[in-house]
Amino acid sequence: MTDRKEELAVNLAKVEERIAAACAAAGRKREEVTLIVVTKTYPASDVRVLSELGVRHVAENRDQDAAPKAAECSDLPLTWHFVGQLQTNKVRSVVGYADHVQSVDRSRLVTALSNEAVRAGREVGCLIQVALDAGASGRGERGGVAPDGIAELAELVARSPGLRLDGLMTVAPLAGEYAGRELAAFERMMDLSTDLRRAHPAANMVSAGMSADLEQAVAAGATHVRVGTAVLGVRAGLG
Ligand SMILES: *Cc1c(COP(=O)(O)O)cnc(C)c1O
Repeated sequence: MTDRKEELAVNLAKVEERIAAACAAAGRKREEVTLIVVTKTYPASDVRVLSELGVRHVAENRDQDAAPKAAECSDLPLTWHFVGQLQTNKVRSVVGYADHVQSVDRSRLVTALSNEAVRAGREVGCLIQVALDAGASGRGERGGVAPDGIAELAELVARSPGLRLDGLMTVAPLAGEYAGRELAAFERMMDLSTDLRRAHPAANMVSAGMSADLEQAVAAGATHVRVGTAVLGVRAGLG
């Protein structure tokens, strides 16, 4: 094994142990939680190694980096998740490789995704990104729609050709009433998911929890955790 493969294998094993322990503590089956490795800022060679180590879900947050990486890794059995703020002029590119877009937060983006998915003959799974710290504008600093905007956006996704409504995504807020209260934030997400599933029973994905707070997300009931740093290492610079 190369040094990098060894390093990623050790890190993955630690993350796997944390997820398993969190599931056990919550009385959940390990299979109820899917690990998504966030590979942003890391090279395609790392994605390839992760695939060799058994990772099946990866996530990226910038199309400029993700598009060439996904192209280089198109021979691998991977599911690609897009988790970053998405401009409509990038939608055509993203639809080319993303199986799931987790950052759906406005109607204009839904329309663009639908048009491009139909054009490409693809079905794109959409998660509504929820901003639990949304201000008066109804939107979060880092994207996302306020809880009271979920239903309308979900309805629009559900009736848009080429799109499938998969569930909800959030990032634990750094400000507002949930700052520093990750478990409470993720429990609120589960309540919002319950509401969503009344109208859309199949939209059962709840994507929450990152390297620092995956235990709280699993405890609350998340179905998907998005882990970057704990697997790949601390990112240099922005990301
Ligand atoms: C970077 C990122 C992650 C992973 O964060 P880590 O703290 O590195 O685990 C998860 N979700 C989103 C939306 C991200 O941008």
